[in-house]
Amino acid sequence: TVSVALFTSDLRLRDNPVLRAALAAAEGVVPLFVLDRAVEEAGFAVPNRRAFLADCLAALDEGLRERGGRLVVRSGDPAEETTRLVHECGAHEVHIAGGVSGYAQQRETRLRMALEEAGCALRVHDAVITAVAPGALTPSGGRDHFAVFTPYFRRWSQAGRRTPLAAPRAVPVPEAPGSLRLPRREGARGAAPGLARGGERAGRERWASWRRKGGLQRYGQREGGQNDLGADATSRLSPHLHFGSLSPVELAHEAAAKGGAGAEAFVRQLAWRDFHHQVLAARPAASYTDYRPHGDRWRGTEGDAEREIAAWREGRTGYPLVDAGMRQLLHEGWMHNRARLLAASFLTKTLYVDWRIGAAHFLAHLVDGDIANNQLNWQWAAGTGTDTRPNRVLNPLTQARSYDPQGTYVRRWVPELAAVEGAAVHRPWRLPAAERARLDYPEPVVDLGEGQARFRAARQRDRG
Ligand code: FAD
Repeated sequence: TVSVALFTSDLRLRDNPVLRAALAAAEGVVPLFVLDRAVEEAGFAVPNRRAFLADCLAALDEGLRERGGRLVVRSGDPAEETTRLVHECGAHEVHIAGGVSGYAQQRETRLRMALEEAGCALRVHDAVITAVAPGALTPSGGRDHFAVFTPYFRRWSQAGRRTPLAAPRAVPVPEAPGSLRLPRREGARGAAPGLARGGERAGRERWASWRRKGGLQRYGQREGGQNDLGADATSRLSPHLHFGSLSPVELAHEAAAKGGAGAEAFVRQLAWRDFHHQVLAARPAASYTDYRPHGDRWRGTEGDAEREIAAWREGRTGYPLVDAGMRQLLHEGWMHNRARLLAASFLTKTLYVDWRIGAAHFLAHLVDGDIANNQLNWQWAAGTGTDTRPNRVLNPLTQARSYDPQGTYVRRWVPELAAVEGAAVHRPWRLPAAERARLDYPEPVVDLGEGQARFRAARQRDRG
């Protein structure tokens, strides 16, 4: 007997219930990954994620080969390609992780129908991509998902979690089905120069070295913790969680076992990830329409707005902390969470530009670019999502005082300002004229006060 383990966002051998169940169901397993044509055509397969994915697939194939198997790669429509493979190898079951986005849900339905015709069963496994399956927790009162994080987190913390699974010892693949060559990292032209390495081994090494250096322990602290921009002290595991080269169940389990305030704060962030996934699973349209319709009429993209959007994208708004984040994004394909929050708040609430424009730019660059986390965090920052204080506006100067008091983060990412010492780096317009003139750094693209007044007036007008 043969089963197929169809890998999606779970590119790992450890703690992978999909692979485990496929192995238990048959004598031979075909591990399959389909390079999805629709994802390519939608423009979602951008160079940074393509490069990271290539690393993940190479690592998965290597791990499978060490266990007597190998990865089969196909390209096209996942439902068609999987059904074709099922016919080729006579499989009676296909195993897959439950998806979250509207697209993943449709893919699952199409796959189920195609397999039914082929006389093959589809088995869907939960708590693979998230620690707690979307839909597993619902609030009282008959709603289908949680719209507020705090009560969700309370329930999430109480929910039982499965015990993480070890990697299988052997993966016997029946008589070699044909496979395309693995995509190569070098093939992803245009990837960011400072892009991280992908793959399960790289992910495990990162997780171990971060803990060894005290990252988890310090995570909740003001200095050297999750919000300290200069310390760059977060785990940087987000791309591994996005591609599933690390398991969220295992991370939550290991962090909780360690205990302490840092571990608690870290586990809370993993719950944020699950929270956004359960919102998206229940409201797939929230990936492009306002989750809470506010009647916002954002500025158009012409004239001044076009110039301001371009400055924001390039990291030349004249607000050093905003620019530092935007430059980090271009250089590494990743940005610190605090900087993401500020960049998103600045675009939507100071420039009053539609969140979708910012979210699309992030998705074009982020190696962890994820429909659930990106679109719903953008909506959170824009005040159209799940923030219970949708009108709060983050001020770059106040944020700088709290999270980059010495200007370390700004000097790292905005080289034109590298010679400006201390907190003065956050207000280059206040420098003595001669010094200011020597810096090749732009004037503020808008006056903060004016931008924020425009936001408040627009909000009142739109609601009125
Ligand atoms: P850590 O601080 O080490 O946290 C551990 C893990 O918890 C992260 O890897 C991540 O999986 C999860 N996590 C942390 N914060 C959040 C959060 N606010 N929402 C959801 N999950 C979280 N994250 C993505 O994975 N993909 C995205 O496309 C994405 N887009 C974002 C866009 C905006 C505008 C904002 C404000 C946030 C976005 N985030 C996104 C969330 C967050 O910024 C990143 O997950 C985090 O910066 C990743 O760094 P880390 O792995 O070092 O996080």
